[in-house]
Amino acid sequence: MSIPSNLQKIKSSLPDHVTLVAVSKTKPVSDLMEAYNAGQRIFGENKVQEMTEKWEQMPKDIQWHMIGHVQTNKVKFMAEYVSLIHGVDSLKLLQEINKQAQKNDRIIDCLLQIHIAEEETKFGFDEQELEVLLNLTEFQEMKNIRILGLMGMATFTNNQDQIKQEFIHLKAIFDTIQMQSVPTLKLSVLSMGMSGDYKLAIDCGSTMIRVGSSIFGERN
Ligand SMILES: *Cc1c(COP(=O)(O)O)cnc(C)c1O
Repeated sequence: MSIPSNLQKIKSSLPDHVTLVAVSKTKPVSDLMEAYNAGQRIFGENKVQEMTEKWEQMPKDIQWHMIGHVQTNKVKFMAEYVSLIHGVDSLKLLQEINKQAQKNDRIIDCLLQIHIAEEETKFGFDEQELEVLLNLTEFQEMKNIRILGLMGMATFTNNQDQIKQEFIHLKAIFDTIQMQSVPTLKLSVLSMGMSGDYKLAIDCGSTMIRVGSSIFGERN
C-alpha cells in the first residue's frame, strides 16, 4: 500500500485523544513529503543529524520529535527547532537541554523515558531513579524545560501478555506521578506503542504512538 493510504488507515482507527508520530528514520525526504502532503505534521527521528538535515529541507510547520537516545553533545544541534524530546533518561541530559533551550530563548518540551522492558539495553529511569529526580530541587527549578509526560518501550517479544503488563506498569507510574505537584511537570502525554503494539498500547492508556514501518514500510 502507499504511504498516504497506510497513514489514512491508521489515523482513521485512532481515538481522538491519541496523537500519531510518524517515525521516518532512515527514510528519504520524498517519503516524508508524501506523508506531509497527506496531512501529517508530526515526524519522529532517532538521530539528531538526520533530523536536522530533514528539518532544513522540509516545510517549517512540521513538529519534529526526537524519539531516540540523545547524546548530551548533540542537544545543541536541535535546540532551535525540536518540538518534543521523548528519550530523556538522565539528569545530565536534562541540564544540557535546559541550558541549550535557554540559549535559544525557549522552553523545550520533554518526556522522561522509563525503563519498562526486561532487556538491559533499553534506556530509561527506573521507578526509584524517577522518584529521586522528581524530588531534586535542581530539577524542579529548571526554567527552560517542560516535562509533558513519560515514554517507554516494551520488550522486543511476541508475548503479547508480557508487552501488556509492561504497558500497564508504565501507565501506573504515569498515574502516580500525575498526582504529585512539581512545577516542572505538566503531565499529559504517555508515549507508548509502535507498529507492532500500538493497539495494545492504546488499550493500556497510551496518548501518543510512534509508528514507522506500518506507514513507510520496512527499514533496511
Ligand atoms: C523506530 C522506532 C519506532 C517505530 O518503530 P516501528 O516498529 O517501525 O513502528 C518507535 N519508537 C522508537 C523509539 C523507535 O526507535
